Amino acid sequence: MKAKDSIRQIKGIGEKSEKLFARLGITTAEELLAFYPRQYDIFTPVQPVASVREGDTVIIEGSFATRPRMASVRSLKILSCKFRDASGQIPVCWFNMPYLLRSLKMGMRYLLRGTVAMKNGTLQLVQPKILTKEEYANQLGKLQPVYPLTAGLTNHAVTKAVASALQEYEFETDFLPLDIRKKYNLMAHKKAVKTIHFPENRQAYADARRRLVFEEFFLFSLALHYMKQGKQSKPSEYVISAGEKTEQLIQALPFRLTEGQQRAWFDIEADFASGFVMNRLIQGDVGSGKTVVAMLALLAAAQNGYQAAIMVPTEVLAMQHYEELEKYFVPLGIRAALLIGSMTAAEKREIIGRIASHQVDVVVGTHTLIQEKVQYDQLALVVTDEQHRFGVKQRERFAGKGKNPHMLVMSATPIPRTLAIILYGDLDVSVIDVLPSDRLPIKNCAVGTSYRPQAYRFMEKQVAQGHQAYIICPMVEESENTEAENVIDYTDSIRKVLSPSVRVEFLHGKMKAREKNEIMSAFVRGEIDILVSTTVIEVGVNVPNATVMMIENAERFGLAQLHQLRGRVGRGTAQSYCIFMSGNTSKETMERLQILENSNDGFYVAKQDLTLRGPGDLFGIRQSGELYFKLADIYQDAQELQQANEAAVLFTREEIVLFCKKYQSLRQKMESYTGEVIL
Ligand code: ADP
Ligand code: MG
Repeated sequence: MKAKDSIRQIKGIGEKSEKLFARLGITTAEELLAFYPRQYDIFTPVQPVASVREGDTVIIEGSFATRPRMASVRSLKILSCKFRDASGQIPVCWFNMPYLLRSLKMGMRYLLRGTVAMKNGTLQLVQPKILTKEEYANQLGKLQPVYPLTAGLTNHAVTKAVASALQEYEFETDFLPLDIRKKYNLMAHKKAVKTIHFPENRQAYADARRRLVFEEFFLFSLALHYMKQGKQSKPSEYVISAGEKTEQLIQALPFRLTEGQQRAWFDIEADFASGFVMNRLIQGDVGSGKTVVAMLALLAAAQNGYQAAIMVPTEVLAMQHYEELEKYFVPLGIRAALLIGSMTAAEKREIIGRIASHQVDVVVGTHTLIQEKVQYDQLALVVTDEQHRFGVKQRERFAGKGKNPHMLVMSATPIPRTLAIILYGDLDVSVIDVLPSDRLPIKNCAVGTSYRPQAYRFMEKQVAQGHQAYIICPMVEESENTEAENVIDYTDSIRKVLSPSVRVEFLHGKMKAREKNEIMSAFVRGEIDILVSTTVIEVGVNVPNATVMMIENAERFGLAQLHQLRGRVGRGTAQSYCIFMSGNTSKETMERLQILENSNDGFYVAKQDLTLRGPGDLFGIRQSGELYFKLADIYQDAQELQQANEAAVLFTREEIVLFCKKYQSLRQKMESYTGEVIL
C-alpha cells in the first residue's frame, strides 16, 4: 500500500467508514497514519479499593458485597451494588446494561476497570469494564491509543484500521537526513509512526514522539528560512505616509492609546516610510488592544490610495471587526467591505467585483480572502489577526495576493523571546506589554461543581445589573452524545434553573455560519444575557459588556486555552469575573487552576504551567492550541524546537545541498509542506 492509496484498500474499511473517516479529513493511507492518538489508555496494576481517588481510572479486584439491583430512572436503567476487597468497599454502577444483572454472580472474583467519580459526597466506580485475567495480564503497562473521534466511528474501528494499514504500508525513504538523525539521536520515521500508534511502553512513546515533533519543527523552520531568504530588506513599491486621517482616528477614539499601542504604531509608521517591505508581528496579551493598531495601519494604506485587507479565523470575528472599522472609517470617507464564506454567491460576486475595480479600500474577511477568484488592486498591506490559527502557508498565500505587500500579523500567544525569534524568524516584533489602564483586573475563582448553584445566582445578579455572561459548556465524553446535543441539553437545563427573565442562547461549532453569526450579533447587541457555548468563542471576540466567564470542566483544558477563554471578559471598565468550574477537585488539578486564580498574565500562566508539570510530563493536556503543529507543543517541546531550528539553519546555509540526490525525499516533503516548488 502506497501513501496516496485510498483508505478503501484497507481491510475492513467500506463505503460507510470511508465517509466517516473523510469527516476527519482522512482519505489516504498516509493521512490515516498521520492521524495520531490524542492520548493513551494505560492499564495500571490492581489497587486496593481503599486507595482510589476521585478522577482516577483504576482496576480493582474483589467480589460483590451486595447483590446488584436494578432501578429505572426515566429512560435509564441503572444497575448498582457494592464491591469489596480486603481493604474496603465502594459503590459501583452501570447504566443501560440490564443483562449484567443475570451474569454477575455473588461470591465470584472480578476485575473491574473504571473511573472513580464523586456522587453525593461518596466515591463511586462508574460504568466499569469487567476484565478477564488474560486481558489484564496482556494489557498491563501497555499504552492503548485513544483517537479523536467523530460520531459513528469508534475508537476500536480506528485502532483496527491503523493496525491493518501499518501492516501493508510501504514507507518511503526517511526524509530526515541521516546525519541529523544521528546528531540528535532520533529514531527512523517508519519506526516512529508505528510506535506512536502502538507504543510498547512510555519510553518508546516518548522517543517516537520526540522524533515526530522534531520533524514537524524541522520542516517548519526550513520553510521559514527559505521564506526569509527571499524576503530580507526587499524594496517596497508602496511607500505609505501616515497623514491626517490616522490622526483624526486617534482623536475620535473614546480612549487614549496605551504606551504599547503607541510604540507598535510608531514601528509600523517607520516601516511604512522606510521604502522596504514591512514584515511585522504585534504580540500582545488578550485584551491589550491590538485591533486598533491594525485599524490605523489599514487606514494609512487606504489613505495613500492603496488597498488593504485583514484576515481573521472566524466569521464571527470578521463581522465584528468589520462593524468596528465601519464605525470609524465611514466618517473618514474610507470604504470597507466584508467578505465571508456564508454570504450568498451573488453577494460574494458583488463584493469581489468591487474589490477588483478598487471601489473598496479595506477588506475584512476569513480565508475567503485568499481564494483564487479574489483579485485585488494595488494591495499594499495584508493583516492577519490571531495568526496562530493560520499556517505559514496561508499567511504567504495572503501576501501573494499582492506584489510584495506590507505584512502585519497579530498574536496573543505569550511566548518567550528566544522562541519568538525562531517561530517568527521572518518577522520583526512589536510587543504591547500593558493592558489599558482603565481595566480592573479580572477576579478569578477555581471551584468544584458543588459551587454551581451559587455561580448561577451570581450570574443572575450580574445580568440584573445589565451585564452579560458566557458559559463554556462541559466537554463531551467520547461515545456519549455529540457536542451539539450537549450544548443544547445544558442550555435547556439552565433555562429551568435560572429566572425566566434571563435570556439564554447557545452557540456550537456544528451550527451553520449564518446561525452562529446571528447569535453572536444578538449577543453583541445585548439581546442575549447568557451565552452557552463550546470553545468556538475562544478567539478574539470582543463584547466589553460581558463580565462573567464560567468554564465547566476547566480541568480538561490547557492553561493557555483557559487564559484565552478568560480573555473574553475584562474588556470593559466594569469589574469582571472568571469562574473555573472543575469536575475534579484533586490536589493537582486545583493547584494547576490556582495558577490562573492568582494571575491574569498570560505569559506568567504559560511559564508556571510548565514548571508545575515539568517537561517530562508528556501526557499532559496540550497547552498552546497552536494549529501549526499536530503533535508538537511550543512550550513543552521548546528544546526540540531549538534543536530543529539549529539543524535547519545549518542546512539552509548551503542552499545547494537540497538538490543532492540523497536529499531528494526531503525536498519532496518540503514541496508538499510549503505547497510550492522550492527554487
Ligand atoms: P485584543 O488585543 O485582544 O485583540 P481588542 O483590540 O479586541 O483586544 O481590544 C479589547 C477592548 O479594549 C476593545 O473593547 C477596545 O475598544 C478596548 N481598547 C483598546 N485600546 C484601548 C485603550 N487604549 N484604552 C481603553 N480601551 C481600549
Ligand atoms: Mg483581537
